[in-house]
Formats: sequence, C-alpha cells, structure tokens
Amino acid sequence: MEHELQSLEREARQELAAITANSQLEEFRIRFLGRKGQFSTILRKLGSVSDEDRPRLGQLANTIKKEIEQLFEHRQEAIRQTASTAVDTEARLDLSLPGRVAEIGRLHPVTQIMQEICTIFENLGFSVAEGPDVEQDYYNFEALNIPAHHPARDMHDTFYVSDSILLRTHTSPMQARIMETRQPPLRVIAPGKVYRCDSDITHTPMFHQVEGFLVDKQVSFADLKGVLTVFTQKMFERDLPLRFRPSFFPFTEPSAEVDIACVICGGEGCRVCKKSGWLEILGSGMIDPEVFRMVGYDPEVYSGFAFGLGVERIAMLKYGIDDIRLYYENDQRFLSQF
Ligand SMILES: [Zn+2]
Repeated sequence: MEHELQSLEREARQELAAITANSQLEEFRIRFLGRKGQFSTILRKLGSVSDEDRPRLGQLANTIKKEIEQLFEHRQEAIRQTASTAVDTEARLDLSLPGRVAEIGRLHPVTQIMQEICTIFENLGFSVAEGPDVEQDYYNFEALNIPAHHPARDMHDTFYVSDSILLRTHTSPMQARIMETRQPPLRVIAPGKVYRCDSDITHTPMFHQVEGFLVDKQVSFADLKGVLTVFTQKMFERDLPLRFRPSFFPFTEPSAEVDIACVICGGEGCRVCKKSGWLEILGSGMIDPEVFRMVGYDPEVYSGFAFGLGVERIAMLKYGIDDIRLYYENDQRFLSQF
C-alpha cells in the first residue's frame, strides 16, 4: 500500500505540472481528489490493513493528499492569473476608439523646389540631364578652363577621392560632358548634388545645384537676361527686378552674378538682404570660347550662356528660411510645413 501511495503521488505531480486549462484542472480534481477519486479509493483500503500499520499508513496518505491539494491550488491560482492577464489585454483593446490616421509622406522642400525649377526650364524648352556625383578632375575643372594650379580651384574646397577623381563641386561638369557628345543647338539643365568641404549657417558639405546652358548661333547676353527674368518671375510668382553684377568664373566670359530685388522687403532694405535691397541668387555668364574649343565647337560660329543656381538658396528665399542646416536635420516639425 505504501508503494501504491508513492506511485500515485508521482503520477499526480506529473499530471498537475502539465495542466494549462481550467477544464483539465476539474478533470484532475475528480480523478485524484474527488470522493470517488484515487486517493479516496486507497484510503478506503486502510480498513483492511493490520492495526499496527494503519496509523503510519493513514498519516502518510493524508500527508500526500494534502501536498497534492496544495499543489493543485497553486496550479489553479497560476492558471487564473494567466487568464486574467489575457482578459486585461482584451479589455484594453477598445474597438470603439477612432483609428489612427496614417501620415502621408511628402517630398522634401529641396526636392520640391528642384522639381519646380526643372519644370520652369522645361517649359522654356530645356531638357533635363543628370551626371555622376563622383567626377573626374577633367570634367570638374580642366574642361571648364580651370587647369591644375589655377587659383580658382581654391574657391571650391574640393573633396578629393584620388588625384584625378573627386566629388563634383558644381553641376557644371555636365556642360562639358554634354557638349562633348552632342552638337548645338543645345538647351539643357542639369540638377543634382554637389559637394564642398564647408559647413556653417549658409553652407552644408552637400547641397543642390541646377546648372543650365544654352548654345546656338547668335546667342547673346540679352537671351540670358530674358531666360533668367522669366525664371525668377515664375519661381517667386511676381515681377522682381533683376540686377547683373560683373563677376568672374573661369568658364564664362563675361561673367555676372545675378541679384533679385529682396523678396522679404521688396527692395526697401532688411536684415535678410543686409539693408541692400538685393539678394544674390545665381552665377552666370557667356560660355568662354576656350570651353567651346575644348569640346570641338567653333567659337566663331557658336555662342551660348550658362548659369548655376543653388537650390537650397532659392528655397530659403522662397520660404523665408534663415538656416540652411534645417533642411538636413530631418525635424518633422520643420519638414511637414512644406
Ligand atoms: Zn530685404
């Protein structure tokens, strides 16, 4: 009988450990602990045991039964807790709450302005071309009339990859790349990223430019002025006076920097235009005959103009942003305004 009790205890413990649901618990209770259960059956046999063994066996049977009952209660409690956690989770799921609105993504302000610039020039008959960010020294400098050791190279703060490979410092290499492979007439704009080793409130190491050029017979400075006037009118959605200031670029002659009347104060003078009433927006000029010679065009036959504008700069003026770094901090509060 002692042996019987011990094996029953083992069996009960094993079964109890495997129980995970209330229905199984009830089954277990009836089979082991109920009035017709296995313990009761064994206890009933105590009557037929000898008088000297009875107290000892009776005590053993009761101890084991109590232990199993205790284990049973623990198990019951554990299952109850698991179930109530599940109910809690279910209770938190309130189906009557309004759904979350999915945020709609939007284009970065720089991308938007770049697309706007491209559209304006496309409407003027320009086609869009793209070129490599990692550029040969030849296209970035040599072909644009900036030979090695030319002091103009200093203005570019170039990131070099090797002696002859660099990150393009402007989108102008596209002039040479396109003229090399095509014949005039040409009307092309080349938007893209450019890189310079420079960073402050108005400069970032990477920024965007749009290069534009037009080559044909009898192209004059008046054509340049006409195209840029239309561009600024469309871009800033109003008639803005333009001012050309003599400047120097090795690949244009003559060269001019172009200012527009301050979009903030309308020419009265303010903090943004530094009281001058004018804002610089781009560099331009007539393509240098030397550049034409390098790609095999006859400068006696063809003439053309080129210009390059900073996309971030245009966006800053259009939206009244005073720190260029805001574009690249990825602050949703800033970006979601556009
Ligand atoms: Zn102003």
